[in-house]
Amino acid sequence: MKVHEYQAKAILRDRGVSVPRGVACFSVDDALNAAQELGGDCWVVKAQIHAGGRGKGGGVKVVGSIEEVKKVANQLLGMRLVTHQTNADGQEVKRLLVEEGVGIDRELYLGLVIDRATQKVVIMASAEGGTEIEEVAATTPDKIFKLFVDPGQGIDDADVSALLERVGLAGDHVEQGVLFVKALYMAFWDTDASLAEINPLVVTTNDKIIALDAKFNFDDNALFRHPDVVAMRDTDEEDPAELEASAVGLNYISLDGNIGCLVNGAGLAMATMDIIKLYGGDPANFLDVGGGATAEQVTEAFKIMLRNPDLKAILVNIFGGIMRCDVVAEGLVQAAGVVKLSIPLVVRLEGTNVEKGREILEKAGLDMVTATTMNDAAQKAVAAAQG
Ligand code: ADP
Ligand code: MG
Repeated sequence: MKVHEYQAKAILRDRGVSVPRGVACFSVDDALNAAQELGGDCWVVKAQIHAGGRGKGGGVKVVGSIEEVKKVANQLLGMRLVTHQTNADGQEVKRLLVEEGVGIDRELYLGLVIDRATQKVVIMASAEGGTEIEEVAATTPDKIFKLFVDPGQGIDDADVSALLERVGLAGDHVEQGVLFVKALYMAFWDTDASLAEINPLVVTTNDKIIALDAKFNFDDNALFRHPDVVAMRDTDEEDPAELEASAVGLNYISLDGNIGCLVNGAGLAMATMDIIKLYGGDPANFLDVGGGATAEQVTEAFKIMLRNPDLKAILVNIFGGIMRCDVVAEGLVQAAGVVKLSIPLVVRLEGTNVEKGREILEKAGLDMVTATTMNDAAQKAVAAAQG
């Protein structure tokens, strides 16, 4: 799960990590009030969407008067912000963060992720912070330094100092930085985060170390123990198809291709996408209907897939284990009665009650292409999608 910058900053502030003063706003009036409340003579109006690169896309504006706060808030609210992390349509801006303007001396990068290979938290730091970090990672990855933290042992001050010195901090900045990184690490740990990124981490013109931006992702499997995090969920930022699928208990991920996949089991679903690729096709989605999908769920799955205008064919690939082929077949027949299938359907059933399943499909006279093996199914689906 992802949260907005202002929510990530609230989490950080609560845990003693330095962030600028700021107020979340949902209207131009909110923004005006926020600017007045914050006071001072420099404000930053920041579009809140679940994508980075907002600065370059025109979603972060530094302004010097209350009138400008109003003007910029008006511009940003309701606009579709396009960044390198959104699609070409962009994401509609519905929330803003109005923040005090901070005098920046230096912009650094700081990121925390879980490294599965070492089973440690890796803290990454770079002197090349700001809006070009992707470029740095691609062209000069040696400018990004890493510290691996064994969660069993916790974080060591001396290691953090050494890391911060490598990115050019010295003296009191290192001391402040160590406190900052330790508090950030605890925030990451306490919330079961999977990613925390502070870009930029800045040294201010009055020598403070502070997080100017904050991005947090959380491990979905641990959300049950973080109701405060769950309360921050903004479904406006999520893929409507994925939301709809999760509401009916389906595991669905939208992809860029044109072959819809309806598969039982995550492993088989991955293998199905692989084999589609192998034969030159492109999956439109990952969909695991699970071990006990009902006819209703199969119907819902079809509806969700068919809403994708790019869809050219559907491949149903079921291995009946716990999930019986006859139940899937019933589901397909029922779904075909509810949704209008205007594209080719390729079906491959194997496993428990397969004969019964095939019989049901035959009897119903469904307009479909049957396949026997995975190879056969994938080739037929790719051919169907290519017309
Ligand atoms: P994004 O990463 O989505 O582009 P950031 O929050 O990192 O958005 O903002 C982009 C840039 O705007 C930062 O690198 C920083 O230079 C500037 N900026 C952001 N917040 C402030 C602030 N409170 N005061 C001054 N400058 C800011
Ligand atoms: Mg940033």
